[in-house]
Amino acid sequence: MISEEIRKKYMPTIGLEIHFEPKTKHKMFCNCLNDPDETIPNKNVCPICLAHPGALPTINKEAIESILKLGMALDCTIPEVARFDRKNYFYPDLPKSYQITQAFLPFCQNGKLTPFLEDNIEEVLIKEIHLEEDTGKLLHNGDKTLIDYNRASRPLIELVTQACIHDGKTARVFAESLQVILRSLNISDADMEKGQMRVEVNVSVSQDDKLGTKTEVKNINSFKSAEKAIDYEIERQIELLEKGEKILQETRGWDDTNTCTISQRIKEGADDYRYFPEPDLPNIIVRGENGMFDLEKLKNDLGELPNNKKNRLMNEYGLISNKATFLVVNNLISDFFEKTNVELKILIGDNLVTDQTVNLIYNYLVTDILGGLVNKNLTFNDLKISPIEFAKLIKLLVENKLSSRGAKIILEKMLMGEKDPETIMKNNNLEQVSNDEELQKMIELVLNENDKSVQEYKSGKVTVLQFLIGKTMAKTKGSGNPEKIKELLEKML
Ligand SMILES: [Zn+2]
Repeated sequence: MISEEIRKKYMPTIGLEIHFEPKTKHKMFCNCLNDPDETIPNKNVCPICLAHPGALPTINKEAIESILKLGMALDCTIPEVARFDRKNYFYPDLPKSYQITQAFLPFCQNGKLTPFLEDNIEEVLIKEIHLEEDTGKLLHNGDKTLIDYNRASRPLIELVTQACIHDGKTARVFAESLQVILRSLNISDADMEKGQMRVEVNVSVSQDDKLGTKTEVKNINSFKSAEKAIDYEIERQIELLEKGEKILQETRGWDDTNTCTISQRIKEGADDYRYFPEPDLPNIIVRGENGMFDLEKLKNDLGELPNNKKNRLMNEYGLISNKATFLVVNNLISDFFEKTNVELKILIGDNLVTDQTVNLIYNYLVTDILGGLVNKNLTFNDLKISPIEFAKLIKLLVENKLSSRGAKIILEKMLMGEKDPETIMKNNNLEQVSNDEELQKMIELVLNENDKSVQEYKSGKVTVLQFLIGKTMAKTKGSGNPEKIKELLEKML
C-alpha cells in the first residue's frame, strides 16, 4: 500500500471504452436474425455476413436509430453526415478480414452524463459513440478450433469517454448509470454477465503535469471489477514510478480471483489498421433536408430519462436520494409505487397525503412486498396485489385502524392472493382498537389489577408507564393502538 502523501503526487487519469449489443431484429449489414440466444452454431449466417465474394452490405436503420436515441439521451452532437470505415486486420473470427466500424465520422460526439446512481459523482464527458459490427466466436477444443459466425456482423455500439475520470468509483457509477439508461431506452439489456455489455479501461498516472504511459485493462466482468481494476492499476503504476521504473504501454487482463491485473500484450507503437472509408456503403445523411432520420420523433420516443425521473421522484414525493435511486433502476416497481400514491390520494384526499404516507408506501413496498416475493422465490412480475388494494391497506394504517403488525399479516395474505385488506382485517380480528371508550375500560381494569405499579408511578417512577402500556396491549390481544393507550394512561393516572 502506498501512503496518502505519495499518492497525492500523482494524478490518475482514466478513460472508458464501453461496448454493448443493441437488441435489433437483424444483424448490422444483412437480414440475418440478431439473436444472442441462438445455440445452434452458424445458423444465422448468409453470404453477406460470411463475406462471400461479391456480396454487398446494406444498412440496418433500426441499429442507427438506437445509437441516435442514446446520443440524444447523453446530450451528444449529432452530425449531419456520418460514415462507416474499414478497420483492416486479420483474425479467424473476422470473415471479411476487416471490420466495418466508424473511425472518422461517428453518429454521436461530445456528450456528457452525470452518473446519477450515487450522490456527488462528477460529470463524465463522452468523446464519441459509434456503431460497428461484432466478430464471430472461436471455440477451442483440444488441438482444434471451431468457428461460430452467428455473432459475426451483429451490431455493436461503442461509447468512448474523454480521459476525464480520476478514480475507480466514478467509472463504476458511470457504467452502472449508463446501463440503466440503455435499459430505460430499451436499446440493450446490457447484461454484463451475458457479455451484452463490456467495459474496458485505460489508466495512466501523471506527475507534475507530465502525462504518464497508459495501460489498457480488459476481461472485466462486472461493474465492481471495473472499479477494483482501476484502483489496482493506479496503485501498481505509482509503485513502479516510485521505484524509478517505467510503465510499459500494454494490454492487461483483470484477474478477478487474485484481484490484480496481468500483462497480456505489450504494445510497441500504435496498431496500424489502415482505416479507410467503406467503399460498399454510402455516406449517411443523418439529418437536415435530405436526412434519413426524423430526430424530433426519435427524441419524443425517448420517454422520461432515468436521471430526470430520479430528480422528479425526489421533488414530487420528497424521497431521499437512495430511495429514488432504488425506484429508478426498476420501472415496474416505480410504476407500482407511483400508481399507489395516486390511488391513495383518491382514497384519502390530497391534504392527507404527506411525506409520511409516501414513506409508508415505500417502506411496506420494499420491505414487505419485495421481501415477501424474494422469500417465496418470486419476482415482481408475479405480484398479485394491485396498486389500489395496496393503497387501501395504507389507508387503514393512516386512519389508525390497523397496527404495523396487523399490516404485515394482511400483506402476507395478500401476497398469497387474498384481495381486499379491510375484509382480511375483519375476518382475522386485526382491527386496531383506537376507540377511547373501549380502551378506557381496559385501562381501568389494568389499573385496578396493578395497584402497586400505579403507586410507584404516582411517587415519581415514570418508567412504570411502559409496563402499564404493555399490560393494556396484552388485554387488547395486541390490537390496541399503543400511542392512544399511552395518551389515555397519562390522562387517567
Ligand atoms: Zn447475414
